[in-house]
Amino acid sequence: QVKRSGKNAFRFFDPELNTHHRERITLENDLRNALLRGEFELHYQPQVSIARRQIVGMEALLRWRHPALGHLSPNAFIQVAEELGLIGEISRWVLEEACTQLASWRQEGHVGLRMSVNMSPLDFDKRDIVSSITECLARHALPPGQMELEITESLMMNDTADVAAKVRQLRSAGLSVAIDDFGTGYSALAYLQKFPVSTLKIDRSFVRDLDGPTTNPIISAITGIARGFALDIVAEGVEQPEQAEALQLLGCDVMQGYYFARPAPAHEALEWLRQPARLFPVH
Ligand code: C2E
Ligand code: MG
Ligand code: MG
Ligand code: MG
Repeated sequence: QVKRSGKNAFRFFDPELNTHHRERITLENDLRNALLRGEFELHYQPQVSIARRQIVGMEALLRWRHPALGHLSPNAFIQVAEELGLIGEISRWVLEEACTQLASWRQEGHVGLRMSVNMSPLDFDKRDIVSSITECLARHALPPGQMELEITESLMMNDTADVAAKVRQLRSAGLSVAIDDFGTGYSALAYLQKFPVSTLKIDRSFVRDLDGPTTNPIISAITGIARGFALDIVAEGVEQPEQAEALQLLGCDVMQGYYFARPAPAHEALEWLRQPARLFPVH
């Protein structure tokens, strides 16, 4: 997702301008070829319900197997892809791959599973974004209700009417829409009325501050908002048992984070689906 504030920050902080300029050009060239060379891969991280001791969803997270640099996180290249106008092609690949994977897991019997896919705000500039997504689901014979799109608060601040219409169309088609990293942007409650989203994902910066079964004004406020708007809630970045416990007490049941599982390739994710109990530490 676009984090404009960090745009080209390295150019200002590093004196080795030439080195970085060269690295940037190499990255741009490599990125142009990455799709053609099949260097992208999706990893999956489970979203678990504590109460049900079940995996309710998987978030698809993009990885780039760079020939020289190894596995790269999207944080290292999504913004460049957006600036180069390559994000549309990448998003299309991600959606196609995620749908293929979900269809395959459904064949294995995991029919209740939901797949979450991260969207770039730029994807919503595309006139036919809604039909290209619903067409992809149909082609893979996937119920739209099993697909969730993750968007960011920044998306809802610009060009509101057009984006809101697209979100509404996606929701009418049966898809879920989650606000990722909720609470970190310029959270105006008004947009929750304009944008019929279905899920709030509590950003991990708020989860990080939880260190025991205690009150927490931010988490309580977010779960209160979720209840008020009848939204689902997912906490991200859960790393410690104390955080999981505190979230549960604060009314948040669905969680995602290293405490349960790190993002991993599809074959490992399938093992979790087969034996979800392995994700839940015994008490
Ligand atoms: P996000 O959507 O908020 O994803 C969560 C990030 O936190 C992921 O980083 C994940 O690996 C990491 N994470 C998960 N659990 C924990 C934890 O317990 N502790 C910590 N410290 N981190 C945790 P990742 O995979 O590097 O992705 C970074 C961001 O890149 C994502 O943030 C998302 O905004 C973006 N992204 C990922 N995949 C895609 C994609 O296919 N398309 C687009 N446009 N953006 C993507
Ligand atoms: Mg996400
Ligand atoms: Mg997130
Ligand atoms: Mg995040």
